[in-house]
Amino acid sequence: MKTREQIVVELAKSIGFDLVGISDANELNDHIKNSLAAYELNYLEGIPWLNKERLIKGGSPDQLLHSPKSVIVVGVNYKKHKDDSYSTSDSNGRIAMYAQWEDYHLVIKKMLNEYKENLQKELSIKIDGRIFVDDGSLLEKGFAEKAGLGWFGKHTNLINSVYGSWIFLGALITDIELVPNEPVKKNCGKCELCIIECPTNAIVSPYQLDANKCISFLTIENRGAIPYDLRPLMGDWIFGCDICQDICPVNDKIDISQNTTFIEKTTSYLDLVGILYMSQEEFSTRFSKSPIKRTKLRGLQRNACVALGNTKQKEAIPALIDTLKNNQSELVRGHSAWALGEIDTPECQNALKISLEYENDPFVLDEINRALPVK
Ligand code: SF4
Ligand code: SF4
Repeated sequence: MKTREQIVVELAKSIGFDLVGISDANELNDHIKNSLAAYELNYLEGIPWLNKERLIKGGSPDQLLHSPKSVIVVGVNYKKHKDDSYSTSDSNGRIAMYAQWEDYHLVIKKMLNEYKENLQKELSIKIDGRIFVDDGSLLEKGFAEKAGLGWFGKHTNLINSVYGSWIFLGALITDIELVPNEPVKKNCGKCELCIIECPTNAIVSPYQLDANKCISFLTIENRGAIPYDLRPLMGDWIFGCDICQDICPVNDKIDISQNTTFIEKTTSYLDLVGILYMSQEEFSTRFSKSPIKRTKLRGLQRNACVALGNTKQKEAIPALIDTLKNNQSELVRGHSAWALGEIDTPECQNALKISLEYENDPFVLDEINRALPVK
C-alpha cells in the first residue's frame, strides 16, 4: 500500500509538476528575519504592499490557514531555447525567460486546484488547504528550500540541482499530516558571479537584494519614473532581467525543459519601435495571458524608451519624437525625452527644443531640460 507521501508526489507529477516536496508548517523564522532586515534597510521600499505584517504572515502558515500541518511545494522547469534570431543591432528589447511563457500565476494556480481535488479523492479525505503562487502572501522559496527542492542562491532565487533556477514555484498549505522532506545540503560555495555581474549592483550582499535597484523590479513593479542614474545600466531589458541567472554556473548545465504545460507567448525580444506605436487594444489582446500585462502599456513604453536610449538606435529617432509629441502618458513622454538626449543627434536636440514650446507637464519639462545640453 502506498504511503500518503507517495500519493502526494505521484499525483503532483501526474498533473505536470517537475518538482514536489513537503515541508512542515512551522514558522520560517530565519526567512522572516531576513525579509524584515531587507524591509528595515528600505530594500523593499518600492513595493508598498509588502509591509512588515505581510512579511511575517508570509512565513507563518498558521496566519494563513486555520490548522496547518504541512506545506506541499511544487515546481515547473521553464528553461527554453534562446532565440538565435535575436540581434542587438536591431531595435529590440529583451524579455526575461519566465515572461516569454503564459502567466505562471494563472497556470500553476489552476494546476494546484486540480491537484488539491485529486488529492482529496485519492486520500478519501476533505482537505482544508490554501494555494499560493508568488502573490506576496507566502514565502514560497523559503518553504521550497525546507521541502528539499533546492538551496537559496546568493541572487535570492531558489536553485535546484536538476533544473537550476529556471523554476516556477507554487505551494499548497494543508491541514494533513505528512512526513516532511529534508532540506538539501548544497550551497553556492565561494562563487559570487551573480553579485559581480549584476549591472545595477542590486545584490548588495550574498542573499540580500535591493529591489529598488533590480532591473526586474524597475521594469515591472515600478509604476513611476526609472531613477535617472539606473537607466544607463539597464541595457536593452524591457521586462525583467536574466543576467544573474544566465551567469550562474549551475544553470549552465541545465537542459531545456521537456515540460509541455506552458504555452509560449513571446520570443525573447520585442520590437521597440513597435511598442512605442502599440495601441491599448493591441497591448491588451497581445498580452492578455502573458506576465507582460502587469507592467501595463505605459510601463512597457517607458521601458522601451530606456532601452532605445541605451542602444542608441538612430532609426528609432522619428518614433521617439512622435512619442514625445503625442503619447498620452507623461511618464512615457518624459522617458522618450531622456532617450533622445542619450542618442543626442542634432535632430534629437532640435525636437527636444521644440517640445519645450508645447509641453506643459512639469515632469516631462524637467526631463526635456535635463536631456538638452548645458549651455
Ligand atoms: S535580475 Fe538583473 S538587476 Fe536584478 S539582481 Fe539579477 S542581474 Fe541584477
Ligand atoms: S552565480 Fe554563483 S553565487 Fe550566484 S547563485 Fe549561482 S552559484 Fe550562487
